[in-house]
Amino acid sequence: MSAEPAPAARDRHATPRQALLLAPGRLELREVPRPHPGPGEVVLKITCALSCGTDLKAFRRGHPMWPMPTPFGHEFTGIIAEVGADVSDFREGDAVMAAPTAPCGRCFFCARGQENLCPQAMARMVLGAYADYLLVGAHVVARNMFHKPASLAIEQAALLEPLSCVVHAHEMARPEPGENVLIVGAGAFGLLHALVLKARGVSDIAIVGRGANRLRWASELDGVRTLDARADGIDEAIAALNQGHGPDLVIESTGQVDGWADAFRRVRRGGRVLFFGGCPPDTTLGVDTRRMHYDNLALLSPFHFRPRDVRSAYELLASGRLEAGRLVNARRPLAELPEVFAMLGRGEALKCAVIP
Ligand SMILES: [Zn+2]
Ligand SMILES: [Zn+2]
Repeated sequence: MSAEPAPAARDRHATPRQALLLAPGRLELREVPRPHPGPGEVVLKITCALSCGTDLKAFRRGHPMWPMPTPFGHEFTGIIAEVGADVSDFREGDAVMAAPTAPCGRCFFCARGQENLCPQAMARMVLGAYADYLLVGAHVVARNMFHKPASLAIEQAALLEPLSCVVHAHEMARPEPGENVLIVGAGAFGLLHALVLKARGVSDIAIVGRGANRLRWASELDGVRTLDARADGIDEAIAALNQGHGPDLVIESTGQVDGWADAFRRVRRGGRVLFFGGCPPDTTLGVDTRRMHYDNLALLSPFHFRPRDVRSAYELLASGRLEAGRLVNARRPLAELPEVFAMLGRGEALKCAVIP
């Protein structure tokens, strides 16, 4: 992995390419005119875009917020190719990293410090990172874009968005060193939770998941105990954690109702459950009210992130304390994007770096 972007393999003057998701399962790489920035905007030459579970979901069955055809890809890092008028903090040639959304700063939710719920955050998401060039809107440039430290690998810099979600979640759950934390789900987000916990001094971490590849990748994280959800005696093994009390904090990271129910069931009396993974629409969680009340449970459900979370995610990446490079375990050229999604669909990579 290189900290600096690889020199462009293609002719500088070749027509820029842009991946479009035309319909579920139908991706096309189109030649498009290079975008130019308006006031406050910048255009990036993408150096790395990362695949994301949300992309895979959209590829398989569509996405309510991304009507098709849609430009595709939202985790990225790049070099500024052109800056618009009124951009003062960045100039052409700067290596940068950014979250794909930013709040308005003026609405009801923004005024209450809940910028993660700002309607603009979702409505004006920057999409189209699987491409040679990406136009980044003024709202993101102003609030959620940062200079990439030269020492930070491009695969890690592009993790800013998912890491911001995890940082926001941990702000709600406030895990403490010395606590026992169980993560339900061994996908990229489950492992990212474990890495952030480790970086913040939590050492008693277990991940319960399924799938041979995922369990193997989880087991490669030093000091993290990996449990197979399908193994005999799994209930007893989890109940035995934390001196037989069960986990202090359970982080649900499957995005499935079964995972939510599992997380609720596993936490100790007086513990916290962090429902992190959004479930499919129209699903319902039945909760044992007796257990919730008499066991004094705290049920938390973070969504998205605020600018302060993006900043702490950025600082965490810049500090070099996060072993986040381990999450990106495949790398493919942009031209092979359809094959990337086939590979992700088969569970053969956690996250794939897509390099123009
Ligand atoms: Zn993502
Ligand atoms: Zn707002």
